Amino acid sequence: MSTAFDLVDINQEQFNVDLGIKGRRALVCASSKGLGRACAAALAAEGVHVTMTARGAEALAQAAADLRKLYPEVEITEVAGDITTPEGRAAALAACPSPDILVNNAGGPPPGDFRNWTRDDWIKALDANMLTPIELIKATVDGMIERKFGRIVNITSAAVKAPIDVLGLSNGARSGLTGFVAGLSRKTVRHNVTINALLPGPFDTDRLRTVSAGQSKASGIPVEEIMNKRMGENPAGRFGDPEEFGLACAFLCGAKAGFITGQNLLLDGGAFPGTF
Ligand code: NAP
Repeated sequence: MSTAFDLVDINQEQFNVDLGIKGRRALVCASSKGLGRACAAALAAEGVHVTMTARGAEALAQAAADLRKLYPEVEITEVAGDITTPEGRAAALAACPSPDILVNNAGGPPPGDFRNWTRDDWIKALDANMLTPIELIKATVDGMIERKFGRIVNITSAAVKAPIDVLGLSNGARSGLTGFVAGLSRKTVRHNVTINALLPGPFDTDRLRTVSAGQSKASGIPVEEIMNKRMGENPAGRFGDPEEFGLACAFLCGAKAGFITGQNLLLDGGAFPGTF
């Protein structure tokens, strides 16, 4: 099968713009795989010391070892734990108590029909995709303000801009975070602390493959056919490469990105059909 990356030949060496964040410290949540991992990699490539988290210790240790090998000059710390729990957040913050850069990320909620969702389902989605980022911002933003440098990037979803009907839990929880940040980000920017969101459309990650495998099981259509159709329907004719996502994150974390705050940057190959 041709992959989403056939048209993309990204070589980190080609991106030798210095973003001015060498030696900074980043906490990148949910980063053993996919988009979080790509953000951790792009920041490490800029010379940023990175603390990575995920629940699965083995995949996390592997991801951290890969980055150490690629970027021996930076410190890569791994903290296994569930970032949506108070214990998971405490462990992450103990390892990285004063981050200059915070990338908020966690798994997305499951699809379904709102008629079947209980209060507990909503609380889980709100915990993962709204309250956890807010708790981590609360724990780190004042230190950033004192040090006159901070970059916070929330990984949300294209569903914030154009709701996906079966992902009501995601539409709701992530929009709550987006609304909160819209206010706060205007207060922090005066202190060179910015808060922005990256809104992924379809990126070729485990999550996208798992969702496609579920659709294949339900419909009997081979998974490759489902994925090829979805790629074909995107204006770019492909899925996003996580590396493209990581580089956008690193840019927003750059020293010269201090005039960009409260923004929601859509990375979806042009799938959203609006003029702006
Ligand atoms: P992925 O490939 O499945 O990777 C998710 C990463 O997050 C893994 O490292 C996972 O490791 C970690 N993680 C998940 N839940 C966690 C938790 N509670 N605590 C700590 N770590 C956790 O997913 P992805 O595609 O990168 O997606 C990242 C986010 O973007 C999700 O919220 C997803 O809904 C959203 N998104 C993705 C797409 C897309 O096309 N890929 C599109 C729109 C939105 P463990 O499982 O070991 O914890």
